[in-house]
Amino acid sequence: MKIFGVLSPAGWRAVIRIGAALFGALLIGLVMDRVAFALALVLGAVVAFQLWNLLRIEHWVRLRSIEAPPDISGAWGELVAIISRIHRRKQHHKSQVTGLLREFRRLTAAMPEGAVLLGAENEILWFNPRATAWLGLKRKRDFGSRIENLVRQPAFIEYLHTGRPEKGVTVQDASDPSRWFSFHLVKSAAGERQLLIVRDVSRERRLEDMRKDFVANASHELRSPLTVVSGYLDALAEDEDLDPTWTAPVQEMRRQAERMGAIINDLLELSKLESGESAQEERAVDVAAILSALRNDALSSQAHPTIKLNIESDALLLGVESELHSIASNLVSNALKYTAPAGEIELRWWTDDDGAYLSVRDTGVGIAPEHIPRLTERFYRVDPGRARDVGGSGLGLSIVKHALQRHGGELRVESKEGLGSTFTCEFPAGRIIAREEPNAAIR
Ligand code: ADP
Repeated sequence: MKIFGVLSPAGWRAVIRIGAALFGALLIGLVMDRVAFALALVLGAVVAFQLWNLLRIEHWVRLRSIEAPPDISGAWGELVAIISRIHRRKQHHKSQVTGLLREFRRLTAAMPEGAVLLGAENEILWFNPRATAWLGLKRKRDFGSRIENLVRQPAFIEYLHTGRPEKGVTVQDASDPSRWFSFHLVKSAAGERQLLIVRDVSRERRLEDMRKDFVANASHELRSPLTVVSGYLDALAEDEDLDPTWTAPVQEMRRQAERMGAIINDLLELSKLESGESAQEERAVDVAAILSALRNDALSSQAHPTIKLNIESDALLLGVESELHSIASNLVSNALKYTAPAGEIELRWWTDDDGAYLSVRDTGVGIAPEHIPRLTERFYRVDPGRARDVGGSGLGLSIVKHALQRHGGELRVESKEGLGSTFTCEFPAGRIIAREEPNAAIR
């Protein structure tokens, strides 16, 4: 029977007490020949007593935060003790959560970054004082508003909707052009809420601009004297009266001057890419034709590896032709530099639903895994001695990375030391343009 397990000892005592009172009333009623009256009297007293207890408890439950619990015995007392326990536990948790919240507020107010908590629809749920100052948010007014209605820079809105939080984005302050802010989204595991971290990167940005200006100016200034030196060296090399002991040193000086010229040109190209200025407009570019021309150039050099061309798509790519040419030619010239004549190079162009791809695969010296993440840094060379011997400036892959970034693309590098490397440029699908005339080079 379930009832035996349901009642507590105090409950049982209350049942026994009421049973005993009713039994007593029954006996007195029998003696006095007034059973119904006696039972009704006792029942009324019992109900009134229970109702009184119930009212006292109800009154206390309403004012339990300020009033002491009523002193009641039996089953009602047990109930009061249980409610008291639950209330105390709740109070304890509440004070813990309130303390934590206070601490969290103090810490987030002292944070050097701005922080904005966003809901599933990018609506603002909370922000710290730094975000208030930097983004011009106002407490009551902006809670619940969508962040893209308040931070309207297109680059930020694109970042918010791309779903690639790890990348972050840097944007210029709309009201003060000397200020730059970087935004980073941190998603919760469930993905419903996200924290937007804002940093003031104006100082870094100014230093970066100074560095870019310095490199651009220095490269530019070096070009004219170098042209004069190269001119005299060319004249010396062609001078038939030159003492033969000078022939080799002059050739070496010409080679080094040529290298310096190549480095200066690469630096200027990199500066131009970084500053975002481009002489050319974007248009539909025939990447397959660029690869084919680069292959023909390579085949015309003296000793070269086998060079295969695999054009698997006749699509064109929306972009700046000179920059796309620079990407492909840097990758092809690297493949030629680091692959022996007995090796093989494959140039490939293809598309799928996710995008367009240009890859250069070689069976050359390959690259150890620890170097791969650093290849696109300026002047980074895996083997400086060898790179210098083959005429590398250490800037080629930086140029590739920047030119790709300007096309919304990315560089993927796969390589095994001693076996070869594959450099793949991935372009977004939005840049693919269908060719009206089919490409005869497609196999
Ligand atoms: P560099 O002008 O010196 O080739 P890059 O920026 O183009 O400069 O390349 C950086 C470094 O990456 C090179 O010095 C070389 O060590 C390595 N590298 C680039 N391409 C290849 C390749 N196809 N095979 C092996 N190593 C390569």
